[in-house]
Amino acid sequence: MSLMQWCDGEIANAETFSAPLTSHALHYGTGVFEGIRSYATDDGGAAVFRLPEHLERMQKGAEVLGMRFDIHQASEAILATLRANAHRDAYIRPLLWFNAGGLGLDVEKLSERLMVATLPWASHLGTERVRLTLSPFRRNPAKALPPLKLCGNYVNSILAKREATSRGFGEALFVDDDGFVVECTGENVFMVKDGHITAVEHGDALPGITRDTVIQLTGATSRPVRLDELKTADEVILTGTSAEIARVAAIDERVFESTGAGDALAVYYGDVVRGRAEVHRGWLTRV
Ligand code: PMP
Repeated sequence: MSLMQWCDGEIANAETFSAPLTSHALHYGTGVFEGIRSYATDDGGAAVFRLPEHLERMQKGAEVLGMRFDIHQASEAILATLRANAHRDAYIRPLLWFNAGGLGLDVEKLSERLMVATLPWASHLGTERVRLTLSPFRRNPAKALPPLKLCGNYVNSILAKREATSRGFGEALFVDDDGFVVECTGENVFMVKDGHITAVEHGDALPGITRDTVIQLTGATSRPVRLDELKTADEVILTGTSAEIARVAAIDERVFESTGAGDALAVYYGDVVRGRAEVHRGWLTRV
C-alpha cells in the first residue's frame, strides 16, 4: 500500500500532491512545521503524545509569520492520516507553508497550504549513547529568529549538524558567546549531578515538549547552565520528540559514565508515551 498523505483537506496517495516550483516557502523557508509522535498502545491501538501542545507551538509559529492556522483542522488531519496509513508507532509531520503567488518578501497576499505526512517510525529508546561536540556555530538568537519550528530556522541546525558529523560526532552542542549552553540541533539538554536533575534553560532554545514532559516527570530544576558546569555533571541527557531520551557518551574529550539515571528515565518515558502510566494518560490523544 502506498503512503497516504493529507493536503489542503484531502487524503490521497502521496504521489497525488505537488507544489509549484515558485512556492514562497521553497525559496525563503517561510513555513512552520511540527515533529510529533504516535505510539502503539498495549490495547492494540495507538495514541499521539501531547498533540495539543505540539499544535499550539505550531500556531505560535504561524502567528509570527502571519499565517492562518486551524488547530482543530490540523488535529483531525493528523488522526485521519494515521488511520489511513494504519500507522501506530509513527512520526508525524504537519507543515504549513506559503504558496506560490509572488517572490517578493511581502507575504500578506500569499495563500497558505497545509500538509500532513506520517511515517512508520519505531521508537529509538535504545542504549546507544551520543557523542556531542561543541559547535563552532551560534544558535539563531531569539531576537533574530524566534525559537519556534519555522522552516528557515533549521538551516542553522543543519549547518551545525553537518559540521559535527564531518568530524565524526553524532550531534552538535550550541553554546552562546558567554559560555551558556543553549541546546543541540534538535534536542534540549539536561544534566544529572549528585542525583539532582537540571533542565538547561536558555532564551534561544526551542521550548521543547519533551523537555517540559521530563521536568514534570522528574521535578527537574530549570536554570541557565554554562558549558564548564555541564562538563562537571555526572550524566548529560538530551530530550526531543524524535530522540526521546538520549544519553550522552561524551562532549568532545569529556567522557561520561552512565549513572543509570538516563536509562531509568528513558524506560519511564517509554511507559508514559505508551499510556502505561495511568496519571499521565491525559497526554495521549487516541488515534
Ligand atoms: N530543540 C530543537 C532545535 C528542536 O528542533 C527540537 C525538536 N522539536 C527540540 C529542541 C526538542 O523539542 P521537542 O521535545 O518538542 O520535540
